[in-house]
Amino acid sequence: MSKISSIEGRILYNSRGSKTIEIDVKSEGKFLGRVCAPSGASVGKYEAVSFPNEKPEESLRIIQENSQKFIGLESSDLKGIHDALKSLDNSTNYSKIGGALAFAVTIAAMESASKASGQPLFKTLSSESSFKFPFPIGNILGGGAHAGPGTPDIQEILICAIGSKTIEDAIETNLAVHKELRSVLENEDSSFTNGRGDEGGWAPKLENQKALEISAKACENLGFTLGKEVSLGVDFASSTQWNEEKQKYVYDRSGFENSTGEQIDFAANIIEKYKLIYAEDAVHEEAFEDMAELTAKFPNILITGDDLTVTSKNILTKAIDSKSCNAAILKVNQAGSLYDALEFASVAHQNNIKLITSHRSGESTDSQISHIGIATKSKMLKVGVVGGERIAKLNELLRLSEHDLIRGMAEI
Ligand code: PEP
Ligand code: MG
Repeated sequence: MSKISSIEGRILYNSRGSKTIEIDVKSEGKFLGRVCAPSGASVGKYEAVSFPNEKPEESLRIIQENSQKFIGLESSDLKGIHDALKSLDNSTNYSKIGGALAFAVTIAAMESASKASGQPLFKTLSSESSFKFPFPIGNILGGGAHAGPGTPDIQEILICAIGSKTIEDAIETNLAVHKELRSVLENEDSSFTNGRGDEGGWAPKLENQKALEISAKACENLGFTLGKEVSLGVDFASSTQWNEEKQKYVYDRSGFENSTGEQIDFAANIIEKYKLIYAEDAVHEEAFEDMAELTAKFPNILITGDDLTVTSKNILTKAIDSKSCNAAILKVNQAGSLYDALEFASVAHQNNIKLITSHRSGESTDSQISHIGIATKSKMLKVGVVGGERIAKLNELLRLSEHDLIRGMAEI
């Protein structure tokens, strides 16, 4: 048991160079939990607000003025810390204090508790006695809100080494595909600059289908069969294309529009043609029935909600009632506090919804998310393939492979 003795914060920058908040929670004057909050670019309508009036400085002022509310609490008492945050902000989306603050305070407190108890963070977050590694899934080619004009409209083409038996092999395989894709892109287009999007995926001037073809080719060049050693995934992030006025998906860069029916066919064709294991936000964030069509059609593919479910247990319950997805992204900062996110995880588990713990496009170099993915029994950990802030999470998995309590890979 250890009591919080201080809570301090500062303004830092995330990987996109935007201001964010970092929080230090100390227990017993010495056990430091330190967390820097990430932020998204393709943000769901119903996510927690990052900062009040978009100002990290306001979140910082609030925690500095209210640190006494936290001092003396047990650092492991996640509910107590969550309640103290809620006493400062009873809104549903943390608009008064900022979801980034709730994120950083709750995870930093748990990290402090884990240091005080001498246990790794994943063990502090879970009462289970044995754990598995989630499969790393990462962005090899980026477009949409994560890359510039000329890149694909779809946001992310992802790689996942589904045939790997060890975390080491899974990470190495993803890296090999990312690297091979660069060669394939250079061969296809001599003007390719090796530019990358926000999450480290290559950002070539290609339309959607060509980008998918080339990604598949990179896998095949390495001797892999799609669906065996590796599979591709896609985050369509379709709310970016959805035009409410036209009631259509507008693919500006490729120059076409999809009605809602055409969008379902568009996604279904991609899933079938490229043998995807994973399809995220294939329709826009309020199209629960359209997502249900895809979920019924593809029971063995992870039909995943991100903007659709925004790590909200209430919205996930709605998605479950309408059979809209069989998998859901867990992004703690969409929910706000870690307590909120773990409640979301337990609703998911009770209803056989597979979890994918995920980074944000604007990240810090922290790696607590790797522990959160393990503790929440996530099937996948979506943290990118390269880039310092992405590699930090993968390297933490490699460190954790030395731990006896984690054995083998999750069953997808
Ligand atoms: C995503 O959409 O899944 C994602 C990680 O991007 P962002 O953080 O921009 O929402
Ligand atoms: Mg997404």
